[in-house]
Amino acid sequence: MTTNNHPEAEPAPALPAGDFIRDIVAADQASGKHGGRVVTRFPPEPNGYLHIGHAKSICLNFGIAGENPGGVCHLRFDDTNPAREDVEYVDSIQEDVRWLGFDWGANKFYASDYFERLYQYAVELIQLGKAFVCDLSAEEMATFRGTPTVPGKPSPWRDRSVAENLDLFTRMRAGEFADGAKTLRAKIDMASPNIHLRDPAIYRIRRAEHHQTGTAWLIYPMYDYAHCLSDSIEGITHSICTLEFEVHRPLYDWILDALKTPCHPQQIEFARLNLSYTVMSKRKLLQLVQEGLVTSWDDPRMPTIAGLRRRGITPEAIRNFCARIGVTKYNGLTDVALLEFAIREDLNRNALRVMAVLHPLKVVLTNYPAEQTEEMPAVNNPEDPAAGSRLVPFGRELYIEQDDFMEVPAKKFFRLAPGAEVRLRYAYIIKCEAVIKDATGRITELHCTIDPDSKSGGATAGRKIKGTIHWVSAAHAVPAEVRLYDRLFTVPEPDHAGEGRDFKEFLNPQSLATLTHCQLEPSLRDARPEARYQFERLGYFRADPKDSAPGKPVFNRTLTLRDSWVKEQGK
Ligand code: ATP
Ligand code: MG
Repeated sequence: MTTNNHPEAEPAPALPAGDFIRDIVAADQASGKHGGRVVTRFPPEPNGYLHIGHAKSICLNFGIAGENPGGVCHLRFDDTNPAREDVEYVDSIQEDVRWLGFDWGANKFYASDYFERLYQYAVELIQLGKAFVCDLSAEEMATFRGTPTVPGKPSPWRDRSVAENLDLFTRMRAGEFADGAKTLRAKIDMASPNIHLRDPAIYRIRRAEHHQTGTAWLIYPMYDYAHCLSDSIEGITHSICTLEFEVHRPLYDWILDALKTPCHPQQIEFARLNLSYTVMSKRKLLQLVQEGLVTSWDDPRMPTIAGLRRRGITPEAIRNFCARIGVTKYNGLTDVALLEFAIREDLNRNALRVMAVLHPLKVVLTNYPAEQTEEMPAVNNPEDPAAGSRLVPFGRELYIEQDDFMEVPAKKFFRLAPGAEVRLRYAYIIKCEAVIKDATGRITELHCTIDPDSKSGGATAGRKIKGTIHWVSAAHAVPAEVRLYDRLFTVPEPDHAGEGRDFKEFLNPQSLATLTHCQLEPSLRDARPEARYQFERLGYFRADPKDSAPGKPVFNRTLTLRDSWVKEQGK
């Protein structure tokens, strides 16, 4: 194996030009539909950390706003379900959006900011005869609702008078009824082929402390009701959401039409991102955290923005990935290799090349003076001349990788073997003269000799040798812990791996290997987490932002240099 600074031999996948949503926005701009305004929003529910799927939505919404003069994108917390929400998530979401490179300026909102207005809108719906208080339980309501082919049955409470509905709704707010005892429902059409129009609940009673409004409210609006009105209150022009909401759109429009709101945003749906070898539902990611199957939401194996960040992926790589996958109306599965491609492309350009030995094997250079050291010039980044070079110390005792030596070399093994020669990167050609073993037969060290004229500038520097390996001077090496991360799941679709199978059955037992005896070149002693490295021949790494300390580095492997899964699957 030779040093490889160009792991991406294949050409980059083409960037799609524009997309159907940008076409709609451009047409609206041309026709003056929204008075030249473009206002989008990213509306996460603060019930978990953001993941790579959210990044697609963030890049789309903030991207469109940024591309249009005067365009803005709001960050709105869709916090209508207090039971599952938390300020920890509110904070992490803001950190992640900012880290991805987007700015909502002064436009940070909470759906809960509108609770009073939403309540008043509900009163208005009642007054219009378009909403009623229903006493059916959740189970009864489900039975009455019917199925897509069987029309629903009207609630016996559907025809309450406006006065009675107003009275009951006021008392729901005042806390006179138990949780679940009553709901407020829109009065639409129990025979509609669209289930979402069969008198959907728009308010429910729930005694839960809310992270923004505390105990002020005992009734909470349902998502479909709160979302369209929040969009309208904020003057959103294009309300972009994922395809599941296509069937909710008639309800979105019905509510805004019924209330004659001044602004009626256009809901546009696109296909959500699904990635192979990944689960993306916040509910499932929460399970992994709660059951200790990963260490935290920012475990580097998680598809969360926080996890990807900690692993060493840069915001540029994520934005490039999102640009590459484009925006369509068709649900599909995106190969995680495409994300890895974007990461490698970015790191290949920007990572500093260094030498690190993960599984050390001691080499003693018997014809090299014990007291001597040299400084070998090494290129920091062949992709970026501005990155310059550094000096790497060299001495009589070195570490090389255990698997760069084979006592009985396999065919085409061009690295070190008894009697064989190999080039040490940036240094000499060495020859293995003796293999030293302990009493159990384990190899403890190799005795080698150098060709003293074979380093750069020497008489035999140009001598052709098939293999080049990396090394670290034992006297100067920095011991370190290195964490090798791999895909979290072993199957492409852990969510759909078969009837009755749980996604957790497909966790990859090899998704983390912690190596505690690694030896790094001395420039890595105080490595900062901001820096990105390519450990030559091994992969891309960065110092862990939480666990690494000056003098005691801990590194995370972001990715290997090439996709080893293609090979694995071929086996
Ligand atoms: P999850 O299913 O992971 O819990 P969610 O849709 O419930 O996600 P929200 O917080 O409601 O999460 O999502 C905020 C925004 O991000 C929504 O507009 C949603 O459509 C979008 N979004 C969520 N998941 C994806 C995805 N996989 N691909 C693209 N957009 C997504
Ligand atoms: Mg949601």
